[in-house]
Amino acid sequence: MKNETQFEGKKALVLGLAKSGHAAASLLAACGAEVTLNDAAPDDGNPLAAELRELGVTVICGGHPETILDGGFDFIVKNPGIPYQNPVILKAEQLGIPVWTEIELAYLISEAPIIAITGSNGKTTTTTLLFHMLNIGDRHPLIAGNIGTVASTVASKAKADELIVLEASSFQLMGTGRFRPHIAIWTNLYEAHLDYHGSREAYGEAKARITKNQTAGDFLIYNADQPELERYIAGTEARLIPFTTKGRAETGISADDEQIYWLGEPIIPRSKIMLPGAHNLENILSATAAAILAGCDRSAIESVLSSFTGVRHRMQFVKEVDGRKFYNDSKATNTLATKSALSSFSTPTLLIAGGLDRGHSFEELRPYMVNVKAVIGIGETADRLLQFAESCGVTALSEQQTLTAAVQEAFRVSSKGDTILLSPACASWDQYPSFEARGDEFIDAVQQLKV
Ligand code: ADP
Repeated sequence: MKNETQFEGKKALVLGLAKSGHAAASLLAACGAEVTLNDAAPDDGNPLAAELRELGVTVICGGHPETILDGGFDFIVKNPGIPYQNPVILKAEQLGIPVWTEIELAYLISEAPIIAITGSNGKTTTTTLLFHMLNIGDRHPLIAGNIGTVASTVASKAKADELIVLEASSFQLMGTGRFRPHIAIWTNLYEAHLDYHGSREAYGEAKARITKNQTAGDFLIYNADQPELERYIAGTEARLIPFTTKGRAETGISADDEQIYWLGEPIIPRSKIMLPGAHNLENILSATAAAILAGCDRSAIESVLSSFTGVRHRMQFVKEVDGRKFYNDSKATNTLATKSALSSFSTPTLLIAGGLDRGHSFEELRPYMVNVKAVIGIGETADRLLQFAESCGVTALSEQQTLTAAVQEAFRVSSKGDTILLSPACASWDQYPSFEARGDEFIDAVQQLKV
């Protein structure tokens, strides 16, 4: 651990007793800080609270009283989900108390350099691809953040010859002060989380914090096909590595129909890539650039690209059954993600879609329905989706009670050469506890198909 004594005797307030709050409070206590943890939910015998008390942490549950700040804290570590309008946070800001998320702690203690990945879409796919490349390339990566173990826990054990690959959301980046990844990736910026950030501008600025403290020895890999990003990164000192899928470029990393280019030189033929989808080509470019900068050789990168078929539930290739290819994109909980999925296939596609009804329209999907030969509706929105399919001139197959039945029906009416895609365009909570559970049922149903 770097600068082990930096928190000794400091007064820290940790807000939120989820996995990351528990990890931050334990870590700070172990580093000799005087820690208070506060959560809005009542204690109710929470074992995490009991564990922290044993470590000497003062645990206050059942509300966020503003008076809590009377203790006079040196800094606050808040759960990324707690909004900045929370009265305790507003008061802390007035009092000039720094408010961090636990990725700041991770940075402050990590001996290993950090590669951080942010963006509205593609974070998990890029993080996973990069992790595999570094792993095969013998660069000792440790995965952290949203898809891995809590960042500060990973950082507390990381060695100088390892590399932390950190998926960082805008919520986490908002709570950074000195956070400085050696390599940063910014995949893209789309309209998202406006309820939290207030405006697209504020959302973009939160993401731009990924590069705020980078210096001339650091790198920023960013999407050059979105000129809007340039405004946010204008002040960075990092070396810029643009990526583009719009043809060969002399700088950064780029791709045309034939090749991937690094600084204008061909490095990997597109024919080697297994992962489908135009959007995934962007993820491939940024992960490849980071892997090169981290010292991976081309064979490690190529071997991942020629075997990686997708992160579970995200355009994941499941299996080919009697000439039909099955893809699980259960993570597509909105029309934007389903649009990306549909534009990935030029084969006739049977789309299984539907789920929680939030009243949103499917109209945005219309231009992407050209290769769709049938829609199978599931969940609360099944009816509306089937009406929409008919209005596009696409066969609407009857609503199915279960996803397993939908898979069987899709298989029954499909032909050799077709793609069968689960990309629901809706959240899963009407029928499942999570999009993962929905995707798991899809995979099981595909595995059980009998030819
Ligand atoms: P995140 O972790 O940022 O949510 P994921 O890698 O989990 O991103 O992908 C979530 C969904 O977003 C995928 O199912 C896919 O449809 C879409 N997606 C992935 N990468 C991109 C990209 N680079 N551009 C646009 N959409 C993308």
